[in-house]
Amino acid sequence: MIIVANWKANVDSVSTAKKLVVVSKKIADAKKHLVILAPSAPHLGLLSVGNKTKVKFAAQDISHTLGGAETGETTAGVVAGVGATYVLIGHSERRALGETDETLLMKTRHALAHGLTPIVCVGETIRDGEALYLAQLRSQLSAILTPLPPKERTRIVIAYEPVWAIGKHASEGITPEDLTEMVSYIRKILSDLYPGKTAETTPILYGGAVETANAKALTQDTGVQGLLIGHTSSDPVSFVSVVKALG
Ligand code: PEP
Repeated sequence: MIIVANWKANVDSVSTAKKLVVVSKKIADAKKHLVILAPSAPHLGLLSVGNKTKVKFAAQDISHTLGGAETGETTAGVVAGVGATYVLIGHSERRALGETDETLLMKTRHALAHGLTPIVCVGETIRDGEALYLAQLRSQLSAILTPLPPKERTRIVIAYEPVWAIGKHASEGITPEDLTEMVSYIRKILSDLYPGKTAETTPILYGGAVETANAKALTQDTGVQGLLIGHTSSDPVSFVSVVKALG
């Protein structure tokens, strides 16, 4: 499994950040999972410079610019320069701030050009009775994937994160049955967009209300290749508990 820990802005202290790295190293050393930590930008620099462990690091976002006179921006080049190898693109909390598909495509291209693996986050806002959410998902995927050259598509990871589930508890999250359907729908979209091997091999992760109680069920026979974990990943005890639940 690929386990992405999105700490969001939940970790203030350097000592908690370091503890999270220690527990993640143990998980990664056990070789069952690829662990990718997504700290805030200052912690990312602190933790990923010179990283020689099996734990990988991701930025939570990058700039739509490539650098220059851009006060406050953190570019793909800066992120790659501190040793991170992944970046979240289009997390719903960024989309909610007004990021457009065009901006996200630019960010994806910058990430790829700097050797970063984009983890492209998609997911419906609500589940309407007329199933318009399926079109929303198709349009989010198409906006980023269709313009990319075939070789670059092979470097993308998809994270399916229904917005209505994010930040909730396991009991309010998606059921394994619904997740199975959504994952096969996403595979179908990918193969409609570009038939062939890449559509079959692109990793699809799930994120939204993953806790100890539902982690195993959400990864068993649902078709996902991993999890993107938010609130439960920013505390060492709860993070270890979720990962242990996977077996
Ligand atoms: C997220 O926001 O990426 C996420 C998965 O959040 P949570 O696990 O808190 O629902």
